[in-house]
Amino acid sequence: MSTSDHPTHIPDHLPLLPLKGTVVFPSQVQGLGVGRKKSLRALEAALEGDRLIVLAAQRDDDIEDPKPRDIREVGTVCRILQVGKQPDGVLQVIVEGLVRAGLSSFAKEDPHFEVLVDLRPDQVEKTVEIEALMRGVLSQFERFARFARSVPPDQLIAAGQVEEPGRLADLVAQHISLKLEERQELLEADPKTRLERLSAILTREINVLELERKIQSRVRKQMEKSQREYFLKEQMKAIQQELGETDERQAEVAEYRKKIEAANLPEHVKNKALEELARLEKMPPMVAEAVVVRTYLDWILAVPWSVRTEDRLGIDEARKILDEDHYGLEKAKDRVIEYLAVRKLSPESRGPILCFVGPPGVGKTSVGKSIARALGRKFVRVSLGGVRDEAEIRGHRRTYVGALPGRIVQGMKTAGSRNPVFMLDEIDKLGMDFRGDPSAALLEALDPEQNHAFSDHYLELALDLSEVMFITTANILETIPPALRDRMEVIRFPGYIEEEKVKIAEQFLIPKQLKANGLKTEQVTFTTEALRLIAREYTREAGVRNLEREIGSICRKVATAVARGVSTGDRITRANLHRYLGPPKFRFGSAEKEDEIGVSTGLVYTEMGGDIIAVEATLMRGEGKLVLTGQLGDVMKESAQAAMSYVRSRARRFGVDEEFYQKTDVHIHVPAGAVPKDGPSAGITMATALASAVTGRPVRRDVAMTGEITLRGRVLPIGGLKEKVLAAHRAGLRTVILPGENEKDLQEIPANVRKQIRLALVSHMDEVLSEALVPRREQEVTPPAPLAAQAPPFVPPIPPVPIQPERRPTEPPVS
Ligand code: ADP
Repeated sequence: MSTSDHPTHIPDHLPLLPLKGTVVFPSQVQGLGVGRKKSLRALEAALEGDRLIVLAAQRDDDIEDPKPRDIREVGTVCRILQVGKQPDGVLQVIVEGLVRAGLSSFAKEDPHFEVLVDLRPDQVEKTVEIEALMRGVLSQFERFARFARSVPPDQLIAAGQVEEPGRLADLVAQHISLKLEERQELLEADPKTRLERLSAILTREINVLELERKIQSRVRKQMEKSQREYFLKEQMKAIQQELGETDERQAEVAEYRKKIEAANLPEHVKNKALEELARLEKMPPMVAEAVVVRTYLDWILAVPWSVRTEDRLGIDEARKILDEDHYGLEKAKDRVIEYLAVRKLSPESRGPILCFVGPPGVGKTSVGKSIARALGRKFVRVSLGGVRDEAEIRGHRRTYVGALPGRIVQGMKTAGSRNPVFMLDEIDKLGMDFRGDPSAALLEALDPEQNHAFSDHYLELALDLSEVMFITTANILETIPPALRDRMEVIRFPGYIEEEKVKIAEQFLIPKQLKANGLKTEQVTFTTEALRLIAREYTREAGVRNLEREIGSICRKVATAVARGVSTGDRITRANLHRYLGPPKFRFGSAEKEDEIGVSTGLVYTEMGGDIIAVEATLMRGEGKLVLTGQLGDVMKESAQAAMSYVRSRARRFGVDEEFYQKTDVHIHVPAGAVPKDGPSAGITMATALASAVTGRPVRRDVAMTGEITLRGRVLPIGGLKEKVLAAHRAGLRTVILPGENEKDLQEIPANVRKQIRLALVSHMDEVLSEALVPRREQEVTPPAPLAAQAPPFVPPIPPVPIQPERRPTEPPVS
C-alpha cells in the first residue's frame, strides 16, 4: 500500500536500478522482475544497507547495458519491501515509491550504479485553483473508474481522502495505462502541472473509453440481432422437427390427395378439392386458415357424391316389411305401397314428396324407417323444428368463422349414400324471419325439378339430391308453408283407439322394451286389462309414445328386481299396476268427477291430436263485465262474446232476469294445459258453461262437445272431427255433441268407436243445452236460488289476460 511516508533519513548516495518500460511513482507499490547482473548487484547493495534504492527509467528499453546517459535524470527513491527468487534466477521484488529524486551525478558505474540524489519532495501551496484542479481530477477519476472497471474500489476511496495535490496526481496516475513518455513527464512535473496534465489525460481516456463502450454496445446489438435471428430460426426448426411439422404437412397433403383420388368424386368436386389442397400445401404451418381448408376438405370427402345403395323394390316384400313392423295403419300403408309402385314403374317421373301428418307417437318415423328397410336404403332423420334461417338449410358461407354446411348436407353425410330415405321432421314448425325464408331453400332441396343440383353455401358445389327419397312429417297440416304443402302428398296418421294401442303394445312395444331391458319373454307379462288401464289412466295421447314409456318403466323396475335377485319376473295386472306406476294420472269416463254447475267439457284439436278441456263459467255480483282468463287467443275471446250474447238473448227462456248481466260479472276460465285454446270450436262449450251457471242446471259430466256458435245460437261446423271424437273416446265419455254439418266426416270414425259413443248432431244451441244440461226435475229437491237472490260465490282474484293476438306460427289452430 502506498500510505507510508518517507523515511526520516535518505542518504545522498544510493544504488540505482534502471527500469525498462516503466516508471514508479511515489506512493506506488510495484512488483518488478530483476534479472540483469548490474541490477542484481544494486539490489544486493541496497539490501545490505537500509533497503533504499533509486529507480529511474531507461531512455530506450532495448539497451541491455545502459550507460548513465541512457538513464533519465529523474527517478524515484523506493524502499524494497520484499524479495523473492524465481527458479530461473530472476528476483521478484516488490518496491514502494517514496519520493522523487533527480540524479545529480553518477558516483559509481561498477559493479552497480550508485548515484548522488537530489530529493524533490512536492512543495506546493494549496491555492483555490489547485483545489479546483484536485476536485476536477477526482471526479474525472471516478468517471474513469466507472468506465474502466480496473480501479479497485478502495483506491477510489483513498483518492478521495488524499490532501496533497501531488500525491493525488501520483495515485491517480498509477491506475491509468499510459505511455512511458507520459509517465515520465508526470514524474518530472511539479504538482500543479501534474494535475493539469492528468486532467487532460483523463478527459482523453474517458472519451476513448466512452467511444469504446459505444462501439462495443453497437457491435453487441448487431451481434445480438443476428444472433437472435439465428437462434430463433434454429429454435423454430427444432420445434417443427420436434412436431414433425414439415414432414407432417407433406404427409397430410399426400394423405388428402390419396383420399381424393380414391373417393371417386365427380369431376367438378375433385377439381375443387385439388384446388383447395394446393392452397393448403402452400400455407405456412400453424396458420388458422389451414384449419378452415382442412375442415372443408373433410366435408367434401364426407359427402356421399357417388356412393349409392342398390334398391330392392319388391312391392310385395315392401308390404310385408311394413306389416311386420306395424300394427294397423292400413290406409297409410296402402298409400305408401302405391307410392313405391309408381316409383318402380316409372323411376323418372318422380312423384310428389310424401308428407306424414299426425300427432306424436303414431308411427310416422317408424313407417319411414320401414320404407328404408324395405328398399334397402339408408335412413336419416333431420328435424326442422325451430329452423328460421335459410343458412340452417343451406349452410353458411365459408367466410364465416366456424361455418358449416346446412342440415341437408349434414343429413347426407350421416346417411353416407346419395339415395337414402331422408326424413325431414316437423316441417310444420319451420319459422321464417329476416334471415331468409328457409322454406324456399327447402323447396329447392325437395323439388325434383331443381334438386339435381342443390347448392349449399358452404360446399359451393352442386349436390345431386334427385335420388334421395324425401319424406316430411308434421303434426298438423295447417302451418306448413303453402308452397311446400302444394308439392306434397299428405298421408294422415290419425291416432289410435284403445284396442289398437293394446294390440300395438302386445305385438311391438312390449317385445321391444323386454329386449331393451335384457328380459326374457316370460319374465314380464301384461294382462290385456293392465295394458288398457295403462292407456286409459296413465296416458292420454293419440299415439303410443307414453304408453311405450310406461311399459319401459315397468320393464326397468322388473329388470332391477331380477338383477338384484329378489324376483324372477312379474305378471302385470290391474291389481299390481299401481305398484309400478303409482296412482293413475288421468280420470277415465269424464272430465269431471260429477255433474257440475258452470263446468262443461270441450274437445280441441291440437298438434298432440285431439284432447278434452274443461271450461268454467262463474257469476259474481258486479257491473256486467265479461272476464276471460286462461290462455285465450282472440278467436276464443270472440267466441266467448258470442256465447254471452246468445245466453243474454235467451235469458227469459232460462227463467232469469233479462237484465241480469248488468248486475253481474261473468268470468270464463279455460284451465291452462298443454292445449292451445284459440279457435272458435270451443264456442258451444263456453255457451254451455255459461248457461249452466246462469240457470243453475249442472252439466252432464259424460258429455263432451265441439262446435262454433253464432250470436243467435246457430252451431257451425268444425275441423279435426275424427281426432276430437277419438279423444272423447279415449277419455271414456259417452256422448259427443257435434255440429250437424259435420255429418259427412263421421265415416272417418272407426266403427267400434261409433258403437261405444253416442254422436249427437245438432244445429242450434238450444239442442246443445237439452243434451248437455241435467233437466230441472232430475235435480236435487232444493234447486239453486234464482240468480238475483244468489249470493256471489267466492272467486279468487285471477288477473284478466290482456287481449292481444297471440297466435304463433308454431301454434296450430284449434277447430
Ligand atoms: P312419430 O314419428 O309419429 O312421432 P314414432 O314412429 O316415433 O312416432 O312412434 C313411437 C313408437 O311407437 C315407436 O316405437 C313405434 O315403433 C311405435 N309405434 C307407433 N305406431 C305403431 C304401430 N302401428 N305398430 C307398431 N309400433 C308402432
